[in-house]
Amino acid sequence: MAKPLSLLKKYFGYDSFRPNQEAIVQDLLDKKDVLAIMPTGGGKSLCFQLPALMLDGTAIVVSPLIALMKDQVDALRANGISANYYNSSQPVEVQNQVLKDLHQQNIKLLYVAPESLKLLIPHLKESQIGLFAIDEAHCISAWGHDFRPAYKDLSQLKEKYPNIPIAAFTATADSATQDDILNQLNITTAQKHLASFDRANLYLEVRPGTKRLPQILEFLKNKTDESGIIYCLSRKGTESLADNLVNYGYDAQAYHAGLDSDERSKIQDSFVNDRTPIIVATIAFGMGIDKSNVRWVIHYNMPKNIESYYQEIGRSGRDGLPAHTLLFYSYADVIQLRKFVDESANQEVQLAKLERMQQFAEALNCRRITLLNYFGEQKSEDCGHCDNCKTPPEFFDGTVLAQKVCSAVYRLKQREPITMLVDVLRGSRNAQVYDKGYQNIKTYGVAKDVSWLDLQQYIIQMVNQGILEIRFHEKGRLLLTPLAKKILFEGRKVKLARLQTQSKPQKITGLPQQQSSGLFDELRQLRKQIAQEEQVPAYIVFSDASLKDMEKQLPKDGKDFLQISGVGEAKNKKYGQRFLALIKTYLTEQNESKPKKKTRKTKKTPTENITYQYHQEGLSIAEIAQKREYAETTIYGHLIKLHRSGKPIDLWQYIDKTEVENILKAKNELNLEEEALKPYYEYFEEKMPYWKIKMGLYLAENN
Ligand code: ADP
Ligand code: ZN
Repeated sequence: MAKPLSLLKKYFGYDSFRPNQEAIVQDLLDKKDVLAIMPTGGGKSLCFQLPALMLDGTAIVVSPLIALMKDQVDALRANGISANYYNSSQPVEVQNQVLKDLHQQNIKLLYVAPESLKLLIPHLKESQIGLFAIDEAHCISAWGHDFRPAYKDLSQLKEKYPNIPIAAFTATADSATQDDILNQLNITTAQKHLASFDRANLYLEVRPGTKRLPQILEFLKNKTDESGIIYCLSRKGTESLADNLVNYGYDAQAYHAGLDSDERSKIQDSFVNDRTPIIVATIAFGMGIDKSNVRWVIHYNMPKNIESYYQEIGRSGRDGLPAHTLLFYSYADVIQLRKFVDESANQEVQLAKLERMQQFAEALNCRRITLLNYFGEQKSEDCGHCDNCKTPPEFFDGTVLAQKVCSAVYRLKQREPITMLVDVLRGSRNAQVYDKGYQNIKTYGVAKDVSWLDLQQYIIQMVNQGILEIRFHEKGRLLLTPLAKKILFEGRKVKLARLQTQSKPQKITGLPQQQSSGLFDELRQLRKQIAQEEQVPAYIVFSDASLKDMEKQLPKDGKDFLQISGVGEAKNKKYGQRFLALIKTYLTEQNESKPKKKTRKTKKTPTENITYQYHQEGLSIAEIAQKREYAETTIYGHLIKLHRSGKPIDLWQYIDKTEVENILKAKNELNLEEEALKPYYEYFEEKMPYWKIKMGLYLAENN
């Protein structure tokens, strides 16, 4: 029998296993049941796909999402592995064909939704099955966060097929759920594999949730062409943020459960295929996709627990390349989330989880340590790759401020929540304060010099230090703890972390910057073209990591090409020549233009230069847009950029003088402070397209 490692290279093109993969594969080959806990992006699929190739019979993979199944099947086929799926959305003829293939042992992996497994079982003989893999296995547990009733049926598998190994996979780490999974599946003697939850390539950052839009715009500035997701709490939130981003010239789309399913899958498709780089979504988005080159994730609102947070940020950087994650934290979100909890069952657990999430957001030490400790991994070394490690908070002597706060809490008779406390300390003249006569108490206005939000943050720090207590279930009123009394009466000192809203550098300095070369862009273009020809997502052809490796190794022949990470035999045969030819041409051109120096060019070819080439070849805007799979608006944007950089492009063929004059007139009338396009769009009663407004403004200024 071939060794797992050689098959790993042959089929998947990888040289080594990721942590835990090899042990899990071996257990399954030894026909042992397995429970594997791995973080999102940790490489679960391979753990059952590889033994599936080595065991007799078909591996039955239970997976909750039909969309994901198709993706995985495509990915397997691209690697030359026979795979299929079976579900109720298929016509009967197709289902029958699948069953026939199954009986003739023509399928190595068969994906099935839990709801369809019932229909499949009567056709399944023990001798035909290699293994059962249960993806998202926490769905079987009512303890887990997304219970699926159909998963209950899986409890009969062990009884029906006692000799077939069952492998359960999940990213849910809490031990109650783990035990429940084992019980429900009747595999209590399963081998447990707990992979590290550390995803070292994710940069972790938390910022106060004030002025989020400008912060996001700043964040996006040097992320052109990178795919990313922004999570919001509400549907409305996704739509207004997406609108805003579009107004600022970004290709963004909203995604939420209120859209019909056709539209949703269209949006998802265009994200997966690198056409729409930015999705602004409620948590519904991302479950069903395996896109490996998501480069950043922003949480516009705080998630309800660390599990969700980690799963959502885990959707970035699956290819192992650097990814940036940013969480906006606001106290208002906490209040909102607490309201959601109140309406549902097992409140206590949910509240405790929310509190842990809040603690994470407020933490002043290494984020990764907090995170990994939450998942039960004792880690004590600073990671150096999170905001708190990069710019450790500065502490100042906050004793006087803390005394003022405690004294106000006392004078408010420990009856008021944080908002009222801040109002009183800042001497607010609002009606609630006056109604209660709080303008007369001694501490009224004693912290005027601290801004509202900062003061709120400092009070939260005091809560975290155990000086004050929030009674959430009593309208959030604040109480003094014994520690507060020491501060008030015994001269105990308090250290507070200086808020860094303004002073924190926005750019991360230590993050390995994505160094892109012209070659990388060309490789991406070729990948895109092939993906289009084969009607699969680009990352199924090759991941970003594979393209990066090609850029680094510069393979010259098929033997070299096989050495590239992610290139197995099937992909070598299918794509090798085209990629090798491209690399060869690129190198020749490089040598011709720089006869002496053999070094690679590391400056990125701006995407508009590709547009420029097509433009010079005489293609129309519509044709260029189609070829490049961009919106026409984007292409017009490129033309403006090119014009600005001095390229001989006649913009006046797209817009006339009167139009520019009208735009100029609008500009004077609107007299905007920021550079937003939407007001213009509305001014022209939605009749003038955005690109034209942009072009008009540009020409008005530069002619
Ligand atoms: P999960 O299901 O755990 O979220 P996946 O199985 O989708 O993660 O794997 C994430 C990415 O890692 C995929 O792009 C996969 O091809 C890649 N991968 C998995 N195992 C390896 C490995 N041993 N070496 C390199 N890349 C790997
Ligand atoms: Zn850190």
